[in-house]
Amino acid sequence: MQYDSMILTFGEMALKGKNRNSFTDLLYKHVKKQLAPFPDVDIKKHFDHIEVALNGRPAEDVAERLRHVFGIHSMRCAISVENDLEKIQEAALKVVRAENAEARTFKISAKRNNKQFPINSMELNHKVGSFILRNTEHLKVDVHHPDLEIKIEVRNTKTRIYGKTFAGEGGMPAGSAGKVLLLLSGGIDSPVAAYQMMRRGATVEAIHFHSPPYTSDRARQKVVDLAEKLQEYAAVDLKLHIVPFTEAQIAIRDNVPENYRMTIMRRVMLRIAEKVAEKRGALALVTGESLGQVASQTLESMNTINEVTNLPVLRPLVAMDKLDIIQIAKKIDTYEISIRPYEDCCTLFLPRQPKTKPDRAHANRFEAYLSVSELVDQAIGGIETVDVGRIQDDLSSLL
Ligand code: ATP
Ligand code: MG
Repeated sequence: MQYDSMILTFGEMALKGKNRNSFTDLLYKHVKKQLAPFPDVDIKKHFDHIEVALNGRPAEDVAERLRHVFGIHSMRCAISVENDLEKIQEAALKVVRAENAEARTFKISAKRNNKQFPINSMELNHKVGSFILRNTEHLKVDVHHPDLEIKIEVRNTKTRIYGKTFAGEGGMPAGSAGKVLLLLSGGIDSPVAAYQMMRRGATVEAIHFHSPPYTSDRARQKVVDLAEKLQEYAAVDLKLHIVPFTEAQIAIRDNVPENYRMTIMRRVMLRIAEKVAEKRGALALVTGESLGQVASQTLESMNTINEVTNLPVLRPLVAMDKLDIIQIAKKIDTYEISIRPYEDCCTLFLPRQPKTKPDRAHANRFEAYLSVSELVDQAIGGIETVDVGRIQDDLSSLL
């Protein structure tokens, strides 16, 4: 079945009142970017939806390109006909025949936005419904639980008949919420935390701490691969800042009692991340921590770690179960990368029994044995920034 347009609906974004225009603009730009490979389609902004004129392009192709665009609640395929009863009836029949061969019951839901059109919604339901009953064999009307619902919208110039609907990602458009800096490890959780933040419209840059030669190139590559997956949801090139962390790790190992090493390491990470965030214009840090998941993720630990920064540290997974996190990791296709067996820097210097209830006083005392600000500055001086979006473009141009 060849639909002529696809209607992108907004969901929560529709509630945004005065800001709606800027949200729609952001979404429009992202949609345009995603559909750039299809120069034949036309994209038009309306008050409460975006209309993509397919011009012969299969709806499935367009839905696939828009699958990861946040802010799209649903993608509804439609055909448009003149505001004429017979044409509407024929079009509705076409959609019924194309859409669901197994359907035994159906319902017509007509909406007459154009009051000049002489047939009101109720009558239109009836006239189109009876036309379909006359022209099909196995269908019955069921207004409560139909197998198939055909929506009809009589608009000013044309009538749309809606068929197949693809689910969108939901959330808020990319770029609508400002920038955050994500602490991205090679684990399962932090990529999911990134996805959750991006889903709310945040622009994400990532920072990763590695400790060569104790961590391998493959561990580093794993993180780049994760960032590439996240790039699929972003409207702009995602930047990944890779921080050399070996010196700091060694200094911590040599000067801090074993059970506080984890705490101090996290505090040093946050200090570095805070400086990078300031430089990059990020207003908050994000981690993949989840309450109680491991020793460093108790409230005492979060409290002690947080002392070193004034930036909000957002933990979108804080109240989620691991199994639910894994489910999202699978959905966004980061899980298989995350479970590759290469160590990131933290597992390497990990104490056998980290303190589950560290406190600020002890952390400060132990840090006095370290040259914290030098370690921080040194690490920042060695940062290598990878432009993940560019890698992707390079690859696609090779294909
Ligand atoms: P993840 O699956 O995200 O690694 P985790 O359950 O393994 O989480 P931890 O290793 O304790 O938990 O890490 C907690 C959080 O600290 C991570 O979610 C991440 O945000 C940050 N983090 C840990 N290691 C690194 C690293 N090497 N580089 C950047 N951030 C890190
Ligand atoms: Mg980890």
